[in-house]
Amino acid sequence: MDTTTAIIGGQVLAPEEIIPDGTVLYDGGRIVAVGGRHDISLPSGQGIEVVDARGMLVLPGFIDQHVHGGGNADTMDNSYEALCTMAKTFAKFGTTAMCPTTVAASEEDLMGTLATIGETAKRGCPDGARVLGAHIEGPFMNPEARGAHEMQFMVSPSIDRLRRYHDAAGGKIRIFTMSPELPGITEVIETATRMGILVSIGHTKASLEQTLEAIEAGARCVTHFYNAMAPFHHRQPGILGAVAADDRVMVELIADGTLVHPIALEIVLRIVGSKRAILITDCLRAADAPRVERFSFSGNTLCVGESNCFLANGTIWGSLLTINRAVPNIQRILGRSLSDAVNMASLNPATVLNIADKKGSLEPGKDADIIIVDSDMNVHRTIVEGNTVHVS
Ligand SMILES: [Zn+2]
Repeated sequence: MDTTTAIIGGQVLAPEEIIPDGTVLYDGGRIVAVGGRHDISLPSGQGIEVVDARGMLVLPGFIDQHVHGGGNADTMDNSYEALCTMAKTFAKFGTTAMCPTTVAASEEDLMGTLATIGETAKRGCPDGARVLGAHIEGPFMNPEARGAHEMQFMVSPSIDRLRRYHDAAGGKIRIFTMSPELPGITEVIETATRMGILVSIGHTKASLEQTLEAIEAGARCVTHFYNAMAPFHHRQPGILGAVAADDRVMVELIADGTLVHPIALEIVLRIVGSKRAILITDCLRAADAPRVERFSFSGNTLCVGESNCFLANGTIWGSLLTINRAVPNIQRILGRSLSDAVNMASLNPATVLNIADKKGSLEPGKDADIIIVDSDMNVHRTIVEGNTVHVS
């Protein structure tokens, strides 16, 4: 670990510029220098490892704050092994940190899974992405907007429940998706925010006013924008109106080109700008699991298609997206720059999760979460906190 590593010759995405022939030096899990080849002198003597990135892009690792499963493992499998399978699977696609996401479940299953996520966040997965902590999706959700979540597991929000989840997870809840229209939610949002949990608005039919109240109480994100929320109406502009009216809130986007129409993505991106958009996968266990053709998720049987999962009646029900495909979609379909697209998957989630002092960009002092990719965003090397976890 104490060997200094120098990644040389690649195009380096630094916070303010793209350095054409750049060097990134890291040591002991931290980045120590980022600059042009001639600006950085490599330490002399033994103990320096050189990684040749000529012809490649050197980017900050991706942070996926909303991911249910992959590699035929699911968060709700409730095991260290399943979470590490996910961590390893997504590291292949450039994810260096993630929030395994729960679904509405029985109290026992949810508490058990939260405990496992909390332990895994502390212990780490040896050859995968860093598990930051849980994203709880449900059970504080409007039953009428519950989407894939099971009706029987919807519960009323309460501070007492919130505290029990928090304790079960050993303090490792990062995000809590909840619906702003539920009775008593304001106090729950305020308390969660004080605990350092990011409250994200989702699975909701909230009006503009209810959404603005939730933001005032501390909510700072909207879960998978457009999916499971009330649509825009010119006399009731809803959540789309709220994100236009209050720029403190960020939005999660599923940029796979099918779950959200590209023009719908364009509309919300024009409203929030590139600094308030966060790319997520929201993907399920069939992602990168070619032999899985059918599986059970949240009480439903899902079929696996080319690019997403669907119910037997054809309704699209979940994604197979990986972040390294979402980023070029933002560039190619929506015409955004490489830096904007990458930041949506690195710096922006780090910012909303309040970890931008450690993660999200290639800067001295931050964790060495680095990926080396080709121009098609195929991932050739993934480095998590200084450890190389994937090479292809
Ligand atoms: Zn989800």
